[in-house]
Formats: sequence, structure tokens, C-alpha cells
Amino acid sequence: MNKSIHPLISSTSVRLVMESALTARDRVGVQDFVLLENYNSEAAFIENLRRRFRENLIYTYIGSVLVSVNPYKELEIYSKPQMERYRGVSFYEISPHIYAVSDNTYRAMRTERKDQCILISGESGAGKTEASKKILLYYAVTCPTNDHMAALGDRLLQSNPVLEAFGNAKTLRNDNSSRFGKYMDVQFDFRGAPVGGHILNYLLEKSRVVHQNHGERNFHIFYQLLDGGEDDLLITLDLERNPQKYQYLVKGNCPRLSSVSDKNNWKVVMKALPVIGFTEEEVQKLLNIIASVLHLGNTQFGEGEEGETYITTETQIHHLSKLMGVDGSALGEALTHKKLTAKGEEVTVVLSSLLMLCLPDELYHSSKGSSVIGLLDIYGFEVLQHNSFEQFCINYCNEKLQQLFIELTLRSEQEEYETEGIAWETVQYFDNKIICDLIEEKHKGIISILDEECLRPGETCDVSFLEKLEDALGGHPHFVTHKLANGKTRRVMSREEFRLLHYAGEVNYNVNGFLDKNNDSLNRNLKEVMCQSDNQILQHCFRREEVIDQKRPEMAATQFKNSLMKLMEILMSKEPSYVRCIKPNDAKQPGRFDEVLVRHQVKYLGLMENLRVRRAGFAYRRRFEAFLQRYKPLCPETWPNWHGRLSDGVSTLVSHLGYKPEEYKLGRSKIFIRFPKTLFTTEDALEA
Ligand code: ATP
Ligand code: MG
Repeated sequence: MNKSIHPLISSTSVRLVMESALTARDRVGVQDFVLLENYNSEAAFIENLRRRFRENLIYTYIGSVLVSVNPYKELEIYSKPQMERYRGVSFYEISPHIYAVSDNTYRAMRTERKDQCILISGESGAGKTEASKKILLYYAVTCPTNDHMAALGDRLLQSNPVLEAFGNAKTLRNDNSSRFGKYMDVQFDFRGAPVGGHILNYLLEKSRVVHQNHGERNFHIFYQLLDGGEDDLLITLDLERNPQKYQYLVKGNCPRLSSVSDKNNWKVVMKALPVIGFTEEEVQKLLNIIASVLHLGNTQFGEGEEGETYITTETQIHHLSKLMGVDGSALGEALTHKKLTAKGEEVTVVLSSLLMLCLPDELYHSSKGSSVIGLLDIYGFEVLQHNSFEQFCINYCNEKLQQLFIELTLRSEQEEYETEGIAWETVQYFDNKIICDLIEEKHKGIISILDEECLRPGETCDVSFLEKLEDALGGHPHFVTHKLANGKTRRVMSREEFRLLHYAGEVNYNVNGFLDKNNDSLNRNLKEVMCQSDNQILQHCFRREEVIDQKRPEMAATQFKNSLMKLMEILMSKEPSYVRCIKPNDAKQPGRFDEVLVRHQVKYLGLMENLRVRRAGFAYRRRFEAFLQRYKPLCPETWPNWHGRLSDGVSTLVSHLGYKPEEYKLGRSKIFIRFPKTLFTTEDALEA
């Protein structure tokens, strides 16, 4: 590594540093937001991002948080030699990069023997999934391989195309949008070789199976199968090649994508499935299910003279019975005989549950590892024109993650101060626990009230739910409705909305559909047919014990709440790192930096709040050895002939450097530097 690179400015600007460090800083901005003069100014923050983006410097730190702006073009910064540059090098010594986060996390896991996690957030199209793929690639390439499981790096990487085929789709905002949240554990053995892992999924957007908005598509796998599947395969599945023949693929009127080759991706997925552990038979069963979804979509219903429902497309039932391995007449019965208030909806639920199974929890076999790095690729705060149940869940998730951020950051600060014997200094921040409670508290929170309203016999509807909320939460400082606002709110609210004042800002939620979406139940008859299937994957999904059990399954929001609680537990036991992704424009174009759009994201990602928490205590800390090692050349009078205690050495050095008492503190093994500028000046002196 070139030690002469100014550690606080990107290495790409080395030439400029030679001319004048100041000019370079003016031009490319600071590589760590904690170095901004006015760290409370949102305008300064955005200006710094803009300058760096213009220079293709897409990464910037807030302390150890990495902010990344999607370049929407291939940059030459991800090659193998680049990976090598980041190996074993600490944050301050090299330009910000996703590899720096990957490497530091890995080293922390190895040296501190503590499990780690990397939390990646940002709105749709901001680059979360690309970031998580780059982290995985870094580990696959740079970590030692385990002789017994040499293919594991491969398996880790190969899980991605499969997950994307089943869980990603083209949306208006992203041609490859992940329609689920993902937590992936990578386990490493005692030598630091990746040996296993597993994946948890959150909130798959099941409704996409049956409905896509104009310009959007269903999940990639359907198009891949039709475009790439061999003739023989399609014949066995009774499928036609043209996607326009299938009801579930025509809604968005967008069968092909210019940016994606379904045919090529089909090949990639088919190659990946055996690598990640699917047998040939399992692959066949999986494809049977995919084909069944398409056939179910084409099943049509008629109404008899006495109001009875019957299926008008008998051949579909024949295909379905063959593909799903269930009895045809039982299936026909189940699809038509129920208090059939909403035939269409029933089918919808079957389909969505089917897709759920195609995303297995454990993609590659887990083995005992000594430590773990978790990767969380999850939707950031979402504020759309029309916000519904989905946005409510997503934003609730982000409140929880913010709480985790606060707790973990402050906790680790506090612990470090304690071990170092430094007096704790209060940090001013907004504790969002009050909003989490508002949503999730037992008996009193929004989710409880929603569940109660779903279960209450008699006439319940979305509006009665809203009324219940008003009664219970009327006085809450973070909850507003049209009625409660009494004309006092800035933005006009409709009578069907409630507003939550989230830590990141206000969001109005329209209650239409809340009850239905929370209910998300599947007709019992259908479940019974499904659990008799001879397809193991279907059996795995519709477990007989669960179907027989009469207890009503948990409602969607409560299920989500419980899985979030588990996720929080997993994350709490780990040392976190953060990657915050930003989308620079809505047109998916390189070189365009839409300031309004970026400002919105800076706000909803809580970046100013991140910065405040980071700047509240000491900006930097270094172990005495490391500090002396780097800066002792600045005091040639004393070194190299110094023999004494490390802390005395550091004291001597900083008084020689002219540090003022308020600028730093000495702990038991580390020096704490309050302002980044102090370090900046010292680095400049080293350069001179
Ligand atoms: P969603 O929430 O919809 O899943 P996301 O945040 O996961 O969105 P990605 O799929 O990672 O977004 O990125 C969207 C697109 O942006 C990618 O397909 C790619 O074209 C481009 N992109 C993202 N990050 C980078 C990068 N570092 N370099 C080049 N292109 C990128
Ligand atoms: Mg994604």
C-alpha cells in the first residue's frame, strides 16, 4: 500500500493531494462526513455527496458507516487487485469502499472473535443487493478456502441468482428489484474459511404473483422458464413459450426487458440449483410448482343456475393435478366449494403461498462454524404517494433497525469508555422507542388493535379499525388522523388515513385493505389438498400437523413483528457495520444527481441523525501502539530512542504536537480524539 496517500482523502485524488491538499479537499469533498466543518448542515452534507459523486467517488463514511451512491454505470473499482489493496488495511489509511467494510468486518471477527453483521439499507434501486453481492464476492475471493468444502465460496455466490429468480422482479423503480428482505449468515471456521450459512426472508411481496402494475413484471423465474426452458421441458409442463398466454404474466404488459436476458439467466439459475444442493428430482418438483402457478392463473370459473361455482377450464385442473401431484377432483372441489364469497381471492392466496415455498430458508447446508458475519439487505424507509399496509410494515422494520443502531452504537461507546476508564459523556439523540411501542406494544399498539379488529365478530372494516385507533391512540404525540388533527396539520389528510411521525419524518397510511392484508388466510380445504401432494416441496410447505391444528395462524403483521423480534435478537448479539445506499436519480442514469431526491433519502435514511450520534463523543480512537507507530516520525527528537510506557509515549508525542486538553483523552490502551480536524492536521504534518 502506498503510505504516502493522504488517509483522509480518497486515493484516487493522490495527484491532487500532491498539488495541494486543500484544493483536493475542496474539489472532491471529505471522505468522512465527521470532517465537515458544519456537521449539522444538511446542505453541506449533500454538497459533499454531490462533489464526490461527480468525481465517481461513490463511497463516503460517517465514522464507520458507509454511504454509497449508485453510479448506474460500471466503475473500475471492484477488480481483484482492488480487493488486494483493501486486505488488512484499516479504514483511515485508504479511500472508502465496500471492500474496506468487508475487510474490517472480517478482521474484527477474526481478531476480536465476535460475530459481526453488516446492515445494508436504502430505497428501491439504491444498490443494496449489488452491495451485498460485492461483499460476498470479496469473501469468496480473499478468504482462505476450506479443503473439505472448497466449493463453498461458489455455493455462497450461486445462491444469489436463485434467490433473485424467485424473489426479484422488474418494477418501475428497478429492473431487478428484490421483493423481499433478506438476512444471510455466513459462517467461518477457525481458520477464517467460509464453511456454511443460511438465509432468512422477510415479507415477500406475494401479491405480485397475481397482479403487476403497468410496466412491471412478475417474478423473473416465470419468464426465464418460458424463454430458456427446452422444448421437451415445456411439453412436460404443458406450457407454451409465449408469456402473453398466461394471465399472471400479462397484467404489466411488459414481457421482455432490454436490460436482462431471461434466457441467459435461466441457464445461470439451472446451473446454480445443483451447486447449492438441489437434486435433479427437487429441481423438477420446483419447476412443476412454477408451472402450476401459471396454470392456476389460467383457470376460469363459471357460475351455475343456482349460484354454484364450477371450473370452466377442465384441462387446467388436469395439468394441475399432474404437476402438483394431488387428486384432481379434490382440487377442483377445494377451488370451488367454500363459502365462496370471493373465488378470485382464494386462488390468489394459494398462489402466493406456493411462491413462498420456492424460497427455501436454508439454501446451503449449514455447518458448525466458529464465527459468523450476517448480511442484511432490507428495504429502507418507504414513503410513496399512497402508503398502505406494506409501507407500514417496512417502516416499522426501519424504526426497529434505527433503535438497534442507537442501542448498539451507544452501548459500544459506553462499553469502550468504561473499559478505557474514561468518564461517560451524555449523547443527545432522539430515542425512537416511543414510536416502536406505539406500533408493537401488546394490547395497546397499532398491530394489536389491527389483530383485534380482524378477529372481532360482526361488521368490521378498515374504517372501524381507524376509529379504534383514534379511540386508543388519540393523545399520542406521534399519531395523527384527520379528526384528531383538527385542521392543524400542514398536509391535508384524507379521512381514511392515519399519520405516523416516524423518526425519519411523517408518513400518511391509507387504511384501505389493512384488514384483508393482515388476515392473509388460506382456505382450509385447499390446505388439506396441498398437504396430500406427493411433491416434497409442497409437503414441506403445507405441513399436515399445522393444517390439522385448528388454531388460527398468526396474522400477517404479528408474524412480521415476531420475525423482526427474532432478527433483532440475532443482530443484537453481533457487532454491526452499516451501509446506507442512495439512489441519485429516478431515471436509472449515470452522472445525474437529483438533489431533491437525494435530500429526501438523506432524511429518511436518518443520515444527519447518524452523523450527530457519531460526532457526539470522540470522533476517532486508536490504540497507543498504532498511534505511536504512525506519528512518531513527527517527533524525531524523542524517537527512535524512546523507552518507556506506551501511554507516556503518547503523552509526550501529543504535547509535542500541541494537542489541547479538550481535543483528546487518554484511556488505558487507546487515545481518544474528539475532533477529526485534530487528526487531519496531524496527518497533514506527516505529509509535509
Ligand atoms: P431493491 O430494493 O429494489 O431491491 P436495491 O437497492 O437492491 O433495490 P440494486 O438491485 O442493488 O438495488 O441496484 C439497482 C441497479 O443499480 C443494479 O441493477 C445496477 O444496475 C445498478 N447499481 C447498483 N449499485 C451499483 C454499483 N455499485 N455499480 C454499478 N451499478 C450499480
Ligand atoms: Mg435489492
